[in-house]
Amino acid sequence: NSAGNMHTVPAEEQKADESAVPDSDTDQDKIKIAFAMDTLLEERWPRDRDLFREAVEALGAEVEIMAASGDDALQITQMERMISSGIDVLVVVPHNAEATATIVNMAHSAGIKVIAYDRLIRNAEIDLYVSFDNERVGELQAEAMQKQVPSGSYVYIGGAETDYNAHQFKQGVFNVLQPLIDRGDIRIVFDQWSQDWTPASARANMEAAFQANGDQIDAVISANDATAGGVIEALEARGLAGKIPVAGQDADLAAVQRIVEGTQMMTVYKPIHLLAEEAAELALKLAMGEPVVADQKINNGKIEVPSVLLTPIAVDRHNVMDTIIADGFHTEEEVYRNT
Ligand code: BGC
Repeated sequence: NSAGNMHTVPAEEQKADESAVPDSDTDQDKIKIAFAMDTLLEERWPRDRDLFREAVEALGAEVEIMAASGDDALQITQMERMISSGIDVLVVVPHNAEATATIVNMAHSAGIKVIAYDRLIRNAEIDLYVSFDNERVGELQAEAMQKQVPSGSYVYIGGAETDYNAHQFKQGVFNVLQPLIDRGDIRIVFDQWSQDWTPASARANMEAAFQANGDQIDAVISANDATAGGVIEALEARGLAGKIPVAGQDADLAAVQRIVEGTQMMTVYKPIHLLAEEAAELALKLAMGEPVVADQKINNGKIEVPSVLLTPIAVDRHNVMDTIIADGFHTEEEVYRNT
């Protein structure tokens, strides 16, 4: 049998193998964690993948990872396959917050606990949710923007409507902006989701915002750095890059470079290693039936999900060095390459 066929080895053969090498740390003894990812497209996800793998392996368990290229049906098929291959815990970054619910019951029927990683699964009895505080991400963006642009016309470029995070980010933005809108200081002149978080969709949105408002736009809050990149392309085409402040999220290298070059105002940095390590530890605890401390609760439409929410960090050109670079998330050389 090849390594790739491991899971299809019949039970009898597995036993034979074990008795042949009684003391070896055979694969059959190890806890198996599955990591079902939506996509590897945005820069953060390969990092999540690698750090999660390292963290699980460092804890002595095994990990199987699949990514679905933003395809709901494929993600479900991949999860079904992993569930039937005999895993202990399923960790999911759902492409679609709602569509993923069906898999949770299937996992539970097989005695497998489910953790939502970074993104919530809606309307399902998931066991745990580990993420950053997503509303706080939006609040940080709006707080920074409101300092820079205390009054004027704001554009909001949202993330993918199918991703519940996009709703939480937006909620956070409006937690901060609503009082200013009510007072008449700020007007929201454009507000749209960006299909599948693509820069192209965000750019088209930004162009539509200009169509509707002429150049009367003072600030843009964009749900992440990929979409902020699309927004800034639209600004460049009008000679407005660096003139209209743009907020993003993720601390993608290109975005941090734009920040030090002056075409993006800020990003929200989420130290991914903390998320990956937390999720790996909690997955192992669930697998071993140990108690898990998750002191927050997020309602997912069905239950109050026990949640662990990590703290995001606002970064602009003043603190790039003390945060992103100090952590080794990007090197100083990379960040200042074009300056
Ligand atoms: C994540 C962001 C990411 C976006 C697009 C969101 O759910 O929280 O960090 O930029 O998905 O992949």
